[in-house]
Amino acid sequence: LLPQPPYTIVCVSPMSVYQVFESVAKKYDVMNDMMSLGIHRVWKDLLLWKMRPLPGTQLLDVAGGTGDIAFRFLNYVQSQHQSKQKRQLRAQQNLSWEEIAKKYQNEEDSLGGSRVVVCDINKEMLKVGKQKALAQGYRAGLAWVLGDAEELPFDDDKFDIYTIAFGIRNVTHIDQVIPVLGEVIAGDWKSYQYLVESIRRFPSQEEFKEMIEDAGFHKVTYESLTSGIVAIHSGFKL
Ligand code: SAM
Repeated sequence: LLPQPPYTIVCVSPMSVYQVFESVAKKYDVMNDMMSLGIHRVWKDLLLWKMRPLPGTQLLDVAGGTGDIAFRFLNYVQSQHQSKQKRQLRAQQNLSWEEIAKKYQNEEDSLGGSRVVVCDINKEMLKVGKQKALAQGYRAGLAWVLGDAEELPFDDDKFDIYTIAFGIRNVTHIDQVIPVLGEVIAGDWKSYQYLVESIRRFPSQEEFKEMIEDAGFHKVTYESLTSGIVAIHSGFKL
């Protein structure tokens, strides 16, 4: 039983993923710290310890946002490569630590050929990431690419490791709190409401493992962290 015209049509369109991250980009890092009480830093460190990339590793970090995984990767490979090389140099060539330090002034050399490509669909997130890289002195072995995880702009088999951290879902169970924090800190309720919805819709850790297996990966395992708030899933393409 429709009322008499004229009608007013009200159209409510959901925010796109792009809009969400565009609007939170500048406050993304501070929000991450607030929402996880800083624990996301530990989770990301654990990811690197689990990954244990060797010097020379080519990493593709999809949905890499502001570069948290990429910077950890560069730190990790640099420290691994340098300490091993330095020990070898000192033992084989009897060089002093000063001479060894000079050899490693070139940033490229200190990475042992490792490289990370951060790929993200949102140019605002990448912009914040690039600014962070400049401010923190990361230059070599790092590239930023605007691209969609569902249509990656790379040739097959160009990378050794693929990561996607909080790109498929977001953290935490506290689904009533997050939008409030979003409003208070970022002045943006809708974006954080969207993020909460995306968490709610995410499969369980076991279901996600099966999805990775169904996609053809082998030796799929996961480690549940912080009472199951997050998990690190991994698998191998053989
Ligand atoms: N990985 C970073 C981290 O752990 O801090 C950022 C995670 S942030 C929650 C999610 C990121 O996924 C955002 O930067 C967003 O722009 C990106 N993103 C969303 N959909 C994407 C897609 N289809 N392809 C690539 N990136 C996407």
